Amino acid sequence: MKITKVEALYLRLPEIAERADGTQDTLIVRVHTDAGIVGVGEVDSSPLVAKAIIEAPMSHAIARGLAECVIGQNPLDIEVLWQRMYQGSIFFGRGGAAQQAMSGIDMALWDIAGKVYQQPVYRLLGGGFRTKLRAYASILFGDTPEETYEIGRRWTDAGFTAVKFGWGPLGQSEASDLAHVRAARRGVGDGNEFMIDAGLAYDTATAIRRAHQFAEFQPYWFEEPLQPDNYDGYARLTANSPLRIAAGEQEVTLRDFERLLACGVAVAQPDVARVGGLTNARRIGQLTHHLNRMCVNHSYKTGVSIAASLHFLAALPNTYWLEYCVEQGALRRRLTRQTFPVVDGYVSVPEEPGLGVELDEAIVERYLVR
Ligand SMILES: [Mg+2]
Repeated sequence: MKITKVEALYLRLPEIAERADGTQDTLIVRVHTDAGIVGVGEVDSSPLVAKAIIEAPMSHAIARGLAECVIGQNPLDIEVLWQRMYQGSIFFGRGGAAQQAMSGIDMALWDIAGKVYQQPVYRLLGGGFRTKLRAYASILFGDTPEETYEIGRRWTDAGFTAVKFGWGPLGQSEASDLAHVRAARRGVGDGNEFMIDAGLAYDTATAIRRAHQFAEFQPYWFEEPLQPDNYDGYARLTANSPLRIAAGEQEVTLRDFERLLACGVAVAQPDVARVGGLTNARRIGQLTHHLNRMCVNHSYKTGVSIAASLHFLAALPNTYWLEYCVEQGALRRRLTRQTFPVVDGYVSVPEEPGLGVELDEAIVERYLVR
């Protein structure tokens, strides 16, 4: 079997707002084979940057587009192809957008392998430690504390037992931060969990102060309070925080995660659509297990990323939560035919061969930017 074609499809809603909502556009990758089997994957990056990295013509041996690194190769040689893409892009890659773009092809290769072997991807990754994951509704903070309260109510009423509030107003002032976090706790109620995603809002001293101030509201974790390059700050924060510190969605390479975990972060958050696909996510997940940390997916895209995240998490021992984006845009809700319903607070891992997702071609056509 050989790879014959790699498609990079840029999908975009007609209107894009300036907010931290990654569901407004995406890059979907389809890998075609001469056996007629097609794999699908997704990239979480700047879509047109990643598309260029996939489609670029060769400049020389170590500056190639990713598509030509894999065309003509056997799609079942997943690790070999991962290294071909890494070596072929080493001149401009070694992380960043190049490795984010690799995610889409790698994910599609795992989808193909599952379809060839007639097994769900989690089984090819070593088997399932669990058949379902506890989903937390992932959404942005409201503009006002009243809106934040209503968001908490809305998603716990919808059947979630945990809600994560992110970005938006956090960091405006101490009084505002405390009002939002108090409203978040009241909104979800005492019987449920909530998480705070600070969205890079603080310097180190303020983050340490907020961790102590937020502790009385008992958030499950305090996510990304610092700039991702502030490793020294993360080390000081984890040593001085009464709350679990979560981070990692901006990290790409295994080395990035080694550095972050060395800072004492309790919850690592690799994104399968950013770190180089399931192949590298698994390496990162195994590292977090080795270091006795919790591994939780970052995922704020479409059903393709949700499916890949479920397979990734199911095959790791040190997981529990699923980040489950509840934005309501058409790409998030309707790009895949599978909707991943939340039942009693949990989402089931797909059991169909491959990733277990099928694109709705009408939605692809409608939002495809040509
Ligand atoms: Mg986050």
